[in-house]
Formats: sequence, C-alpha cells, structure tokens
Amino acid sequence: MTTTSRPDTSTDTRSAAAFARAQQVTPGGVNSPVRAFLSVGGTPRFIASAKGPYLYDVDGNELVDLICSWGPMLLGHAHPEVIGAVAEAASRGTSYGAPTTAEVELAAEIIDRTPVEQVRLVNSGTEATMSVLRLARGITGRDKVVKFAGCYHGHVDALLAAAGSGVATLAIPGSPGVTEATTADTIVLPYNDRAAVREAFATYGDQIACLFTEAAAGNMGVVPPGVEDGVGFNRFLADLCHQHGALFVSDEVMTGFRIDRSGQYGLDGVVPDLMTFGKVMGGGFPAAAFGGRAELMQSLAPVGGVYQAGTLSGNPVASTAGLTTLRLATDAVYAHVDRASARLQAEVATALATAGVPHVIQAAGNLFSVFFVPEGVTAVPDYATAATQDTAAYAAFFHAMLDAGVYLPPSAYEGWFLSAAHDDAALDRVVDALPRAAAAAAAAAGGRG
Ligand SMILES: *Cc1c(COP(=O)(O)O)cnc(C)c1O
Repeated sequence: MTTTSRPDTSTDTRSAAAFARAQQVTPGGVNSPVRAFLSVGGTPRFIASAKGPYLYDVDGNELVDLICSWGPMLLGHAHPEVIGAVAEAASRGTSYGAPTTAEVELAAEIIDRTPVEQVRLVNSGTEATMSVLRLARGITGRDKVVKFAGCYHGHVDALLAAAGSGVATLAIPGSPGVTEATTADTIVLPYNDRAAVREAFATYGDQIACLFTEAAAGNMGVVPPGVEDGVGFNRFLADLCHQHGALFVSDEVMTGFRIDRSGQYGLDGVVPDLMTFGKVMGGGFPAAAFGGRAELMQSLAPVGGVYQAGTLSGNPVASTAGLTTLRLATDAVYAHVDRASARLQAEVATALATAGVPHVIQAAGNLFSVFFVPEGVTAVPDYATAATQDTAAYAAFFHAMLDAGVYLPPSAYEGWFLSAAHDDAALDRVVDALPRAAAAAAAAAGGRG
C-alpha cells in the first residue's frame, strides 16, 4: 500500500473541487486507479485540454506531459491531421454495427507492420488479452496459462494474479472477486527466471494452453527481457512453449508501435503465435487488437467455434484515429522519440547522481523508467527487485516535478512516455526542474513521507 501521507494542501483549486465532486459519483474519483495519485499522495489534476507535449489542467497550469495517456499519444496531443480525420469520420456517423472499410484498413496496417496474418479489433487491451486467452484455450483444449509477476495484461480475472501497474501500486495480490477456481489455472513466475519457467513446463507442460509475456515488461517499471548465452528471454520462452505444444503470446499493448514501427522489442525474430495490441494503435481512442497466424485466428467465430464479439469493435471513428496515427508514425517520429528519451535518461541520471539518490534507469527502446531502488542495486530484472523501491522518495520527486509543471507517472512502477511533439522547449522545462526534484527525493529518501 502507499507509504505516503502527504497532506493535501490544495483544497482551493478547481482540480481539488472537481476531485471532491468526482469522489461522490465514482469510487476514488477516477475511472482507472493509478489516476487517483494514491501512491504519491495529493490531488490529481483534472485536465481541460492538451496540445502537443502539454496538458492544461482546469486551473490553467501548463504541464509537460510525460505519460502521453500511458502510451497512446505517440504523435503528441491533438495532432491536427489526426483530429481532422477524426472530425471527418465522426461527421459521417459514429457507429453502425456493420462493417466499414476503415477497420479493414487499420487491420491491414497492423498486419503490414507485424508478424500477424490476421487480426480482430476490440475496444481495450484487456479485451484483447481476454480474447486471446480464450482462443488459446479453445485451440489447444488445455486450461493452464503462464504469466510473470509484475507483467500486466489488463484486468482479466485469470491474468490478474501478481499483476503490475495499478495493481502493483495498490499492492493488491490479485483482487477480491477473482475466484480461486479462476486463478487455479494461472501459473505466476518471476520474470527473467529461466529455471522457474523450465520447472513449470516440466511439471505442467501438457496442460499449458499458452504463456503470456510483455515483449519487454513495462508495467512494473521497464524491465527488458534478459539475454543469457546469446539467447533472449523471449526466444527461450517461445522455444519452450513450442516444445510442449503451448502457444506463445506476446502482449504488445504497450510496446507495439511505440518502441518502433512494429514493437516486438527483444523478440529477435521470434514469431509469436498470438499477439495483442492497443494504446498507440487507437490514436487516443478506445481501440485494441489481437492477431496471429491465420490458421489460429480461423478458430474464432464466425469461422470457428471460439466466440468473441463487440458492439463497438472496429468503431469507424476509433479506427480512423488509429489508422491516421499509424500512417503518421514514420521512422522520423521514432528517431525523434528515441533522441528525446536518450536525453531525458541522461539528464535524470545526472540529477539523481548529483543529489546522491540511488536509482537505476532501464529502457526498452525509447520506453524507460526510473527505479528508486536502494544503494547497491544495479539492475532490476524482476518484480521482487522493483518492489524494493523507495516510494516516499519517488513521491517527493513526483510532486517537485509537478510543482514545476512536469507531469510524471503518478507511480514509481510506470514507464515514462514521450512523443514526437516533445521538442527542445518542452524537454528543457523537464531538465530545468530535475535538480530541485532530485534534492526533494534525497530529502525524503528512506523516510515514510
Ligand atoms: C495497458 C496494457 C494492457 C491493458 O490495456 P487496457 O486498454 O488498459 O485494457 C494490457 N497489456 C499491457 C502490456 C498493457 O500495457
């Protein structure tokens, strides 16, 4: 649970008033837990608008945005071409419950950029992983699923055991309401622990329908797949799955189309049996997808027997936003985000080192995170290590940055996200704020906030 009891000093702001009202009408005042600032304390900012690299809260503050809607806004906020395409699509009606060419074009764009041969569009990453799990079980006739502690695959019951992200922050082991029968078929292993994976497959190999992993773990902070004897963790996993007749699922909801044109970070040419996508491919709208080899995808209704459906799936406005975003996501966009990320990583490292704050920065391509781990920890390979973070130090760092107009993820367990719109002016503002925030983290380090 949170170790922070930062007093809320800003009861007189419009955000505070909005938050008070929000808490009356929705649990915790938010529609997704991490937004509530529980682990860093204080009052969430209510956002009125956004443009490029900036968020504008209801009090009129301009904030450099380093979460980018938790990934989707790769091009920055309110990109004129995306907004134009969306407005044009919306003017023709917003949902028909019948096929459109927009969704076919989006599917084709995803297939063009990734190893999947067919996709099905859905509305959220959770829906994608939920559907892939059912599909894998339906195809193999097996029940068990393997996942890693700290990897988050949405709030699907069976995958919510030892999840990262909001669940890590709130330290909910699984969640009340998830039955033992549901998680009885879920095997949770430490990330990057090959011996544990070998043992699980030796014991349950013929019962395992599929293994879920993030191409690079991004929901316990960023933890890239390790390499041992020249073999990447993802290849190791895929090979073991295939030796035992299980399907290898790469969940690319976060990494896909964000790290590069396709994602697939650390896949080293491995072709996953099934993949899930979301975030960037929706261009800021609710859209996600799952896909894989045509032969596997043909098991889905209406061709095959595995049922899956959605009233708003392939929504024409969301598909247009996603398609326009992907088409604008050129190599130049990724090169820009890579450069911005490298600069920020270096500046954060310098500021924290100067202030004497122990930390580890890890990256998977342009996606990176800052772990406030104890002195002497030089790498974070798994969730157990990520959980040694000094959350009080992070909370102090977070609030100092926020006071200086920089919106970081309100949790020590999240990646930092940049966009093509993060220009030197925006990055300079972040860099200028770092020394004071690092000093605040140093002052709070080891304390309980
Ligand atoms: C965000 C995320 C999900 C869940 O997606 P939602 O759209 O929030 O349901 C699933 N898997 C990964 C790896 C994610 O980062």
